[in-house]
Amino acid sequence: MIDADYVRDIEPGEVLIIDRENAARGAHENFESVQMRQRYGVNQCIFEYVYFARPDSKVFGEMVDKVRREVGRQLARESPVPDVAEGEKEPIVIPVPDSANTATLGYANENNKRGHPCHFELGLIRNHYVGRTFISPGQDQREMKVRCKFNTVEGLLRGRPVVVVDDSIVRGTTAGYLVDMLRDSGATSVHFRVTSPPVTGPCYYGMDFPDPDELLANQFDSVEEMRDYLGVDSLAYLSDEGLREAVDTANHEQLGYCTACFTGDYPVPVDTSDAQQKEAFEWR
Ligand code: SF4
Repeated sequence: MIDADYVRDIEPGEVLIIDRENAARGAHENFESVQMRQRYGVNQCIFEYVYFARPDSKVFGEMVDKVRREVGRQLARESPVPDVAEGEKEPIVIPVPDSANTATLGYANENNKRGHPCHFELGLIRNHYVGRTFISPGQDQREMKVRCKFNTVEGLLRGRPVVVVDDSIVRGTTAGYLVDMLRDSGATSVHFRVTSPPVTGPCYYGMDFPDPDELLANQFDSVEEMRDYLGVDSLAYLSDEGLREAVDTANHEQLGYCTACFTGDYPVPVDTSDAQQKEAFEWR
């Protein structure tokens, strides 16, 4: 947006000093770089590629669009669209907009390539204009928020099996309401595909996650139980290994990644005791 050239990412622990003097000299190699001593290896946030970063960004040296499509393709290899019965229409594949759009393109393309015919459609429309101000007291605020945020395109959904793709399921509230909306719009069956593994742990490194007890995956013992709770005909998540493989396929730099919110493997140790949390809060 500011018409700048991409040179490189700032490295973890790096301070790049751009002052009047070296900026005036122009070339970026003149900028002074100071590297802080690091106690731990570099572990980039893999969730940037799944959800946080915009597809038109370049992150960790690779375009997010490219990585996210590969993540969608990997999900198709692991969990393709369901087979349809004789005489039933081909499934449509729809993203939860906007964050799942790119991965869903990869998912739909790979399904067709592998002999699982389906159509990519925009069956859910995100409303960019309605905000919280329309929520009146006494209404279920979360449900109302979802209904304000998304609407269905009934003409696309009616009479067809629908495979809805999202980047993650956190509490499951949005997913549950979307499933109801898709069924109300006439989908003959609803299948949920997720381009990340189940979220089971909080992020202690700066991303705002709900309490572990509120995470859907922590409330059930199996994907089948979650499927039942969400009321979908099938539910599938991308595997930990599949996510890592897709990211490494698209970004050849073979970086270290943090996957802690899926795997519980925190690359920098965290003290989760109440006392430590309180101290951290007071310090801020
Ligand atoms: S726990 Fe790790 S992967 Fe998950 S959001 Fe935080 S930094 Fe990213």
